[in-house]
Amino acid sequence: MKILIIGSGPVGAAFARVLWEGNQSSRILMVDAGPSLGSRAGLNLKNLSSAAERSAAQIRSQGPARWPYPSLSIHERAATKPGQFGRLARPGTHLVTLDEEELAASGMPAAAMSTNVGGMGAHWTCACPRPGAGERISFIPGSEMDAAFDEAERLLSVSSEVFPATPEGEAIQNALAGVFNARLPAARKIRRMPLACRVEGEERIWSGPDTILGPLAAEAGASERFELRSETICRRLMTRNDRATGALLEHFPTHEKYETEADIIVVAADSLRTPQLLWASGIRPRALGHYLNDHMWTFAAVSLYPELVSSRGASAYRSADNTIGIFQVPFDASSHPFHGQVMHMDVSPLSMDDGSAPEARHVVGTGWSGTKELRYEDCVCFSDSRMDFMGMPAMGIQYQFTAADRASIEAAARDQAEATVALGTPVFGERPILVPCGTSLHYQGSIRMGERDDGDSVCDSRSRVWGFGNLFVGGNGVIPTATACNPTLTSVALAIRSAHHILGFF
Ligand SMILES: Cc1cc2nc3c(=O)[nH]c(=O)nc-3n(C[C@H](O)[C@H](O)[C@H](O)COP(=O)(O)OP(=O)(O)OC[C@H]3O[C@@H](n4cnc5c(N)ncnc54)[C@H](O)[C@@H]3O)c2cc1C
Repeated sequence: MKILIIGSGPVGAAFARVLWEGNQSSRILMVDAGPSLGSRAGLNLKNLSSAAERSAAQIRSQGPARWPYPSLSIHERAATKPGQFGRLARPGTHLVTLDEEELAASGMPAAAMSTNVGGMGAHWTCACPRPGAGERISFIPGSEMDAAFDEAERLLSVSSEVFPATPEGEAIQNALAGVFNARLPAARKIRRMPLACRVEGEERIWSGPDTILGPLAAEAGASERFELRSETICRRLMTRNDRATGALLEHFPTHEKYETEADIIVVAADSLRTPQLLWASGIRPRALGHYLNDHMWTFAAVSLYPELVSSRGASAYRSADNTIGIFQVPFDASSHPFHGQVMHMDVSPLSMDDGSAPEARHVVGTGWSGTKELRYEDCVCFSDSRMDFMGMPAMGIQYQFTAADRASIEAAARDQAEATVALGTPVFGERPILVPCGTSLHYQGSIRMGERDDGDSVCDSRSRVWGFGNLFVGGNGVIPTATACNPTLTSVALAIRSAHHILGFF
């Protein structure tokens, strides 16, 4: 059985690992449009000790934007004006286009992607909360999803014990518990954030797709049944009736184009480029690219009350990566419809550098998100005449907040302010800052799954594209519900579930 996987991020890696382990006759070819960043495929760059090496690898991941980005404070980023969108991408990612007018008009000016082996999974922060009631997919039985989450957590090496217990951490957790625990369900109280990371001795090893790939990530490939081709783009899928029969690939450095056949094809090329490839292949279900949604994040920095910290006698703690821990304020649709993350600066997606010394002031960053109203109109669409930097159909995004979204953002900011009052004094003013749309990098819905082929979804609950027997999609784009929590654990779990289904074909 010949399997082609397009995209080497966490989701492509999960498909590969399960299919490779699950059947000895499977032969897997994985391709990624981006360059390899090192000897282990999909290494999380947070594990590189050399800042220069990390920066070089980030720049190699930035597609057409091969330059170092300026280091900006959260205020400077939030104050970005039309014409300054070069300030919105985070290291290791690149915006969907360098055309700033187009970005300004899209409604999602910070929409971005990573083009490298490992995808965004080489750059991510590794927060892996399980979704709560209301975020979970109603048409997948809870027990099945829980089993998939268990396996995803194992593959991603998820743990809540990544940071040592510290007095500061305990103080933060207790202060948050005092505000939120009474309204949270019994199984979802304030907790340490589950992180895809393992501790070896004194060292934290952050998970990337390499962790998921396991033996397949080793240099030169550990198995003759698995091959990863970097800088190799899939330009088009070939189809016959209800089958995907193969793909047209191109090796960027040599411009060599060739066709490859496959029995099973999985497209896990992120939430914006999976629909792009389907579009380029003439597979254009009504929902393709639609129902796009992103987490609407408000951020605040809080200087911890001195008594909160000093009463516990701790100020000497200092971690090598400047992080004391990450805490989760869990989502629950009926009692707490927001996901909250409380963290030290270095793990925040936006730099908090305001010129002060955060560790001296015990500053924590808080990020809150409610759920976006899902609308067909919010979409990524593709041009039949214009091309992007990879020579694929150019993207256009149309994205807007509704009145309900604005109300959700206000409510999230009020909820977040309660955390601020419990923890300390705000650093940047009383109001949390709403970051530009797209900043969360959690784009969902664009290849959403559904219960039936009624035009409102792209694939079934096993991620099989409607109308095809052997074509599967994966990534945050398959998530059909409005969520507030970080999506990668869910996407990996859905990929695992889909891969087990595929194993039934052997
Ligand atoms: C700085 C940062 C922090 C983040 N923090 C978190 C977090 O804490 N928690 C969380 O849940 N998520 C987080 N994310 C998001 C997370 O990284 C993504 O959800 C995850 O990587 C998605 O996995 P994926 O495999 O679907 O896609 P990606 O990881 O984006 O991989 C897609 C791959 O497909 C390749 N590709 C695209 N088109 C083609 C083509 N036509 N042919 C061949 N290859 C193609 C790309 O080069 C890319 O390598 C973060 C992301 C970033 C950048």
